[in-house]
This record gives sequence, C-alpha cells and structure tokens, in this order.
Amino acid sequence: MNTLDVRTRSRIEFVDVSAAVKTAIERSGIREGLCHVFVPHTTAGVTINEAADSDVQRDLAAALEALVPDHGQYQHAEGNSPAHAKATLVGSSVTVPISNGQLALGTWQGLYFCEFDGPRSRKVHVTVVGA
Ligand code: ZN
Repeated sequence: MNTLDVRTRSRIEFVDVSAAVKTAIERSGIREGLCHVFVPHTTAGVTINEAADSDVQRDLAAALEALVPDHGQYQHAEGNSPAHAKATLVGSSVTVPISNGQLALGTWQGLYFCEFDGPRSRKVHVTVVGA
C-alpha cells in the first residue's frame, strides 16, 4: 500500500489526485490489474468525475451543499455532521482498472479527493493489485 499526503486549504475542496495515483501505479510496476483508492477519514471522500472543466467540481460541491444543509437537527457534539453526511454520500473508496500500466479512466474523468471539513492534512491509501 502507498499513502499519499493531501493538504486541503478550504472547508470544501475537490483535489485532483489522478497524477499522484498514477505515480503510485508506475512505482508498483503492475501493468494490468486494479487500483484501489481509499480515504481513511469520516469527513472526506473520493470520487471520479469530470476533470476537463473545473466548474464541474465547484458545481458538485454546490450540489452537495444544497443536499446537506449546514444547519439542521444534528446531534453530533463535534458540530460537523454536514461534513460526515457529505462524506457518506460521496463514499470512501473507488476502484479503477489498470490497463497497460495506466489508470483506465475515461477521456473526461479525473480522480478527486473530496474535503468536507477542511482545511486539514489528509491521507489517501492506494493499493495496486495485479491481475
Ligand atoms: Zn465529527
């Protein structure tokens, strides 16, 4: 397993980790297989979405903000239940096929670490398995 360090700068932020994950795959030497990307946090997640237009990440963040209100009947004493809810909606892992030593992402896809309670120092675990 390879661990990436991600430093976020905003409360909500999408960080493109495609290049760092690609480097982890290259280091593994595996040409065909699966790449598992896991976020070991309860107020952050990982998703795959459009990388061509950065407005898409801003719109996704805005859509999640609209789905999960900042103020509600939350019980959790830490006060960051909206961030926990957004993390659950997005999910904590993705698996991407590796073909010819590369992530087999679609033309417009990128791999995004999703911060919902930043700024913080975060980890992303990358596991590469040959097939
Ligand atoms: Zn909490």
